[in-house]
Amino acid sequence: MKKLSIIVPAYNEEETVGLFYDAFSKVESQMDVEPEIIFVDDGSKDKTLIELKKLQKEHEEVHYISFSKNFGKEAALYAGFQKATGDFIAVMDADLQDPPELLPKMLNVVEAGEYDAVATRRRDREGESKIRSFFARIFYKWITKFSSLELVDGARDFRVMTRQMIDSILLMNECERFSKGLFNWVGFSTYYISYENRERAAGTTSWSFWGLLKYAIEGFISFSTAPLSFVTATGVLTCIVAVLGTIAVVVRAIVFPHTSAFGWPSLVVIILFLSGTQLLSLGIIGRYLAEVYLEVKHRPIYIIKDER
Ligand code: UDP
Ligand code: MG
Repeated sequence: MKKLSIIVPAYNEEETVGLFYDAFSKVESQMDVEPEIIFVDDGSKDKTLIELKKLQKEHEEVHYISFSKNFGKEAALYAGFQKATGDFIAVMDADLQDPPELLPKMLNVVEAGEYDAVATRRRDREGESKIRSFFARIFYKWITKFSSLELVDGARDFRVMTRQMIDSILLMNECERFSKGLFNWVGFSTYYISYENRERAAGTTSWSFWGLLKYAIEGFISFSTAPLSFVTATGVLTCIVAVLGTIAVVVRAIVFPHTSAFGWPSLVVIILFLSGTQLLSLGIIGRYLAEVYLEVKHRPIYIIKDER
């Protein structure tokens, strides 16, 4: 019998991990696989680990990894992939926003062999604030345009993949992990299922607007060097303008020799504009440098405190 590993990252999810297990066990019989659930406690500050230990004692298919602190969902997924032994690997959130009822259908598609992965996307962005939807749309549009990735708007991390695909993802051991990008970057064929967005079963989301913005910028930098080309283009453009400006000033000085004291305000504007452009460019280059700095340190992606 084939084995299915389900990776469930959990950060402060004491109320939901039990609900998740119950919901999963209801669909378990519809699948012709041996399941293995790997909960990854991402340094929760509540009683998540205690709940996980309870589940692990009661059910032999439940395993857990507990981090020494909060390393982030991306690190949790990586740890889960490393521990997973299944022929198929699923990723699901603990909060039941990823409906387990879809699992049997998704598994059928990958088992049939035509696709290497089945992923999900939300049908609409209902229930989300306007400003968040706006930025999310821009992000998906730009990352598709300015990188080799093809991300679909509203894609969730809920997906089922083959062992072969997970092995390829494990080859990428970068610390700055943008999973949506990594899943797409490795290639393989993916089938998308859409479903209505669901509310969290309990607890609250751990994503603030600024947290999401930072995540989006890091994801963009991980997969696109377009901002660097933008800096170069801006530099070239300013040089051209500078040459034209110089010519204009020289010509004016020759044709109207006594007007050279004018132009104070325009000078201020030019200086402000140029220093702004330079600072922006430095900032963009700095972001890439920071990424290099973080990667060359080769720090571990996560540290495990307890595991079973
Ligand atoms: N999560 C995690 N580490 C974190 C933040 C979140 O493991 O630092 C987990 C969380 O427990 C949940 C999943 O990632 O299972 C998605 O998080 P959340 O529901 O807060 O995000 P949203 O669904 O609002 O995007
Ligand atoms: Mg959620």
